Amino acid sequence: MKNRLIEILSKDRVLENESMKEHTTFKIGGKVKWMVLPKSKEEIIDVIKLCREENYKYEIIGNGSNLLVSDNDMDILVIKIDKNMSSFEIKDDILEVSAGIVFSTMAKKLSNLGYKNFEYATGIPGSLGGAIYMNAGAYGGEIKENLISVTYISENGDLLEKEIEHTNMGYRSSMFQNEKCIILSAKMLLEKGEKEEILAKVKDLTSKRIAKQPIDKPSAGSTFKWPDGVEHTAAWFIEQYGFKGYKIGGAQVSEKHSGFVINTGNATAEDVINLTNHIKEKIIEKYGVELHLEVKKIGEF
Ligand SMILES: Cc1cc2nc3c(=O)[nH]c(=O)nc-3n(C[C@H](O)[C@H](O)[C@H](O)COP(=O)(O)OP(=O)(O)OC[C@H]3O[C@@H](n4cnc5c(N)ncnc54)[C@H](O)[C@@H]3O)c2cc1C
Repeated sequence: MKNRLIEILSKDRVLENESMKEHTTFKIGGKVKWMVLPKSKEEIIDVIKLCREENYKYEIIGNGSNLLVSDNDMDILVIKIDKNMSSFEIKDDILEVSAGIVFSTMAKKLSNLGYKNFEYATGIPGSLGGAIYMNAGAYGGEIKENLISVTYISENGDLLEKEIEHTNMGYRSSMFQNEKCIILSAKMLLEKGEKEEILAKVKDLTSKRIAKQPIDKPSAGSTFKWPDGVEHTAAWFIEQYGFKGYKIGGAQVSEKHSGFVINTGNATAEDVINLTNHIKEKIIEKYGVELHLEVKKIGEF
């Protein structure tokens, strides 16, 4: 496997026995046997072909900011789409951008260039690919509103471009979650605005995040989705129940924002699962409301 991976990529972009703690904002996770850092679609296609031939399991990650990875070491290959695939080009108010760019970096860049409607994204730490996969959003905006089309490698290895209206994007969901696709790039529609107004909005939303969210602590952002059919967020139910600051092992409901589970330093994935399962159980018991994880899992739990 090693030699063939090095042939496809190059030695410096094939990592062996890599700790997932270094690749997740939760700072949690065991080692994976292989991690590759591709810089082209051709490399990705060749890696997938190799995995198929060898019957080897693979996973895709971006910036690891919405991930809970199990504590066990895993005999799998991780394809990490990162800065090696982060081209950014604007032509006639259409942005063509690769999946590895950090979404907040892209949004800040566009805001600084005087393009509006990306202010909401200037604090979202995932990659663009992860943001499309999740239909990431905040403060009333979500990525589906910015998109024209997405280019991806389908489950069968075909290279496809899909218009946004055919990607089934909804609240923190997209068709990409139902098929094992790899998002490569996107086209986005840009609109010029008043630069001063845009930058004032960015500043305002940044201050709100700093004031309300534990962004200085390892976490994966909002742990649970907004529950179906109710007017309150998951954080509201968690706080009402009295879970603010509640801890199991090294995993804690943030004192600052009850929607975030944080790693206080030595949390394991098991701690996080025990804590979230306990919360789910108590919230359904008391309020009849079912909570679902927003965070995606890799590995056995
Ligand atoms: C402090 C903090 C604040 C946050 N605030 C917000 C917020 O305001 N709004 C919000 O929506 N989210 C927020 N998040 C969560 C997170 O940033 C988003 O969900 C983000 O879109 C995840 O992107 P990622 O690259 O980190 O994905 P990862 O965590 O690496 O992966 C998440 C899922 O996406 C898949 N995936 C990633 N890249 C690709 C690709 N190229 N092709 C196919 N599948 C892919 C993975 O397989 C996985 O299932 C926050 C997180 C943190 C830590």
